[in-house]
Parts: sequence; C-alpha cells; structure tokens
Amino acid sequence: MNLISGRYVEVYNPRTSTIADRFMRGYLLIPLLLAIVFGGLACTRVQATENRSGKTIVVTYPILGSVVKDLVGNEAAVIVPMPNGQDPHEWEPSAKDIATLNKADLVVQNGLGLEGGMEKTLKQAEKAGVKLFTASDHIQVRKVGSGEGIPSGDPDQAEGADDSHIWTDPSVMKAVAMALAARLETDLAIDVSDRLQDLTHRLDALDKEVAAAVATVPQTNRKLVTGHESMGYFAQRYGFKLVGAIIPSQTSQAEVSASDLAELKTLIQENKVKVVFTELGTSPAVAQAIGRESGAKVVELSTHVLDKDGSYFTFLRNLAKAIVDGLR
Ligand SMILES: [Zn+2]
Repeated sequence: MNLISGRYVEVYNPRTSTIADRFMRGYLLIPLLLAIVFGGLACTRVQATENRSGKTIVVTYPILGSVVKDLVGNEAAVIVPMPNGQDPHEWEPSAKDIATLNKADLVVQNGLGLEGGMEKTLKQAEKAGVKLFTASDHIQVRKVGSGEGIPSGDPDQAEGADDSHIWTDPSVMKAVAMALAARLETDLAIDVSDRLQDLTHRLDALDKEVAAAVATVPQTNRKLVTGHESMGYFAQRYGFKLVGAIIPSQTSQAEVSASDLAELKTLIQENKVKVVFTELGTSPAVAQAIGRESGAKVVELSTHVLDKDGSYFTFLRNLAKAIVDGLR
C-alpha cells in the first residue's frame, strides 16, 4: 500500500465512519466546494480594482498616466487629474485636484516645462514635502536642433532648448518606466519588477513595429510639418526631418505671426512637404490656409490625446499610422 492510499484509508475508512458520517460529509462538501468556487471568482473580481500597497500615485497627464498604470497595475492607485483631451501645456488643476496631488504618496510629472498650467501647484507640493518623480530627469533630453522650426526669438523654441514631448518615442518611455520602477521600490516599497519586464518587452515590440511601418515611407517623404514642435523625439528615433510648425514653439500656447506663416509656406514648398499635420491647439482656419497656399494636404494628428481605450500602445500605433498613411 502506498502513502497516498494509506492516507485515504486513514481518513475515509468506511469501517470507522458511520452511514450518518458519510451522509453529513457529502452534504457539507457541496456547500464547501461552492464557497471555494464562488469565493475564488469574487476574489478575482476584487483584484481587478485592488490597491495592494494602499499607496496613491498622481500622474500629471494621461499619456504618461497610461504607461504608469501599465507599470503599477494593482500595486497602487494611479490617479490622473487632467482629463484626456485637454492640452497639457495649458491645463490648470482645480482646488480638488490640488488637494488630491498634495495627498499623493508620489507625484509623477513630465518636467521640461510641459505642465505650464500646473507648475505653481507642483512647486508648492514639493515644498510641502510631496515626493516628486520627474520623468525627463531619467532620459536623454532632446534639444531643439539647428534649422528646426522657424527662428522667432522665443527662448522656449530657440536652438538648444529642451524638447518636452518625450512620449513620442517608446524607447524613451522605456527608460522612464525603468527609472520609475526603481523609485517605487526605494520610496514606496512597491515591487513591480515582473510588470516592468512585461512592459519593457511590449515597448520594445512597439518600437520595432513603428520602425517597420515607417520603413514603408520613402526617405524623401520623411518630412514633418506639425501644429507646434511636438514630434521631435519621434523624428529623431525614426529618421524624419523636422521642417517646421504652424506655431513655431514647443508649446501650443505661443503666438503666431504673419511672417512666421509666410516662412513656413516657403519651407513647405522648398522641401516638397506633402502633408501638414495639425493637432490639439492648432487653429483649423490657419492650417487650412497654409494647406491651400502651399499645396500640402492637411491631416489631423493626435499627439497629446489618448484614444478611447486609454492605451499608450494604441496611441502610438495610431500616431505612426497617421504619419505613414499621410506621407507614403
Ligand atoms: Zn505639445
């Protein structure tokens, strides 16, 4: 007799248990099994919205928020006060948002002046002792290069200025995720190492996917004119020339002059640019006029807003697809 059957005989020996015992065992077993099955299902459901650490992380804008949510999962609550569809260059938090931010265990910001309307709030929170993680502190910051855009004397877009649009390159977001994972471990005692591994693999795959899509665009067509100077990291990663922008600035909030627009028209024609990409904060009337006068097609591009599913991956795929479809 082996050990398992030996145990079985010891527990269920019919000679030592009465008929009533066996009857009761059967009746107790059914509700017990049901409790295990349904209890298990209930636990699975609870886990979907669970906050295992009880900690709260506030992220300043939805695109970065999406990557942070993918990294953190159920290990902490991730709150993004800025609604998707708002312009991160100008959005200002309400009193309630400021209170949420001040209660956070960690605030994740972009930095490099992206959060124009939140800057004061973020500085005050830091002064009050709120822990801050600045994504752009952990990447190779892109500088505005010579010949990019139109010289307008604005220091925010002058040659050598920092480019804040870090999310248009998935390899940059990978660097952010890696640095944030380390910070979560040291400051919040949250271990996301498994999730980090999954996220970095997916970001690598996304990077390859975008590069393959871009490879179908002839090199002579890889020229970008955008609403403002938002596609620098994408251009640097995938080999596009930045010809100019309707608003010749890092921010959608800058002024546009008639001479800027005249110069942009010349640049579009000289570079034989096929498409003018407009985005959040670009005046549709100005974009249409430039298209009409230069002969370029006007195509809308979502550079600062997530798609309905709230996924960074969908966002970047669609961004790349709009560019590839427009320029191929
Ligand atoms: Zn922007």
